[in-house]
Amino acid sequence: MLVSIKEMLGRAKAEGYGIPAVSAGNETTLRAAIEEAEKANSPLIVLVGYYFTDAVNYYSRLIEDFSKAACVPVTAMWDHSADFKHSVRGIRAGMPSIMVDRSSLPYAENVAQTKELVRIAHAVDIDVEAEIGHVGGADEDMGADSENALTIPSEAVSFVKETECDCLAVAIGTAHGAYKGVPKIRFDLLKELAEKVPVPLVLHGGSGTGDENISKACRMGITKVNVANELMKASYDALEAYGMDGNRAYKFWPVLEEGYRKQVAHLFEVCGCAGKAWPARQVFTAKFMK
Ligand SMILES: [Zn+2]
Repeated sequence: MLVSIKEMLGRAKAEGYGIPAVSAGNETTLRAAIEEAEKANSPLIVLVGYYFTDAVNYYSRLIEDFSKAACVPVTAMWDHSADFKHSVRGIRAGMPSIMVDRSSLPYAENVAQTKELVRIAHAVDIDVEAEIGHVGGADEDMGADSENALTIPSEAVSFVKETECDCLAVAIGTAHGAYKGVPKIRFDLLKELAEKVPVPLVLHGGSGTGDENISKACRMGITKVNVANELMKASYDALEAYGMDGNRAYKFWPVLEEGYRKQVAHLFEVCGCAGKAWPARQVFTAKFMK
């Protein structure tokens, strides 16, 4: 069933578990992620972002079709929309939620741009994730974006109040992409944020963060864990282990898919959401079509 992310993360927050938000930038991975969620009886969030595709209209329809047929709650997000046009395209496509990422801007400008898009998105029942503090890239070659800026709790509280965003990505020591070593997560900061911020908290840069760190973060208030890099790496590793000699190349796509599936299944266990699916009703589409 296709549900709103607000409902999904609200349940996760109330019950103290997290849900993986997995990059599913093509039909194969989208189908595989949903099937693994069904096997684990888990809710699922799929991410589609500009870093994979411009075809947000196409993916929105594909996700709606696949999710309606699924026997577990599924929702999706147009990830990291980076400017006004980009954000509005996700809204127009009818994605259940969009991320408005203006976290590299000064506080006042982040508030102003996020607030404007929340108003537009909420008018058509689309939920918004925003970010305060900044989760940068782990790769130093990524230039300015490699800068991490930890979330300041008082700013997070006022940001949510001013923007009325539905969930909040926070910077507590993770980074996008692959790490050199295991990151140091600021659990003390997460504890304070979880106590003070009224909306569900989101962790970006889940790849390579470590199972123990992710499990602990989910128990402490993280409700959504974004994962991209390690899913692709799992696919590649599966392929490398299988080999391409002779006619083994015919298994190229199934082997890639298998690597992805295993890591997605693992994430349900790590985040604590396996077995947490509920008998969802189809509410999102009905609301949106009014
Ligand atoms: Zn991210």
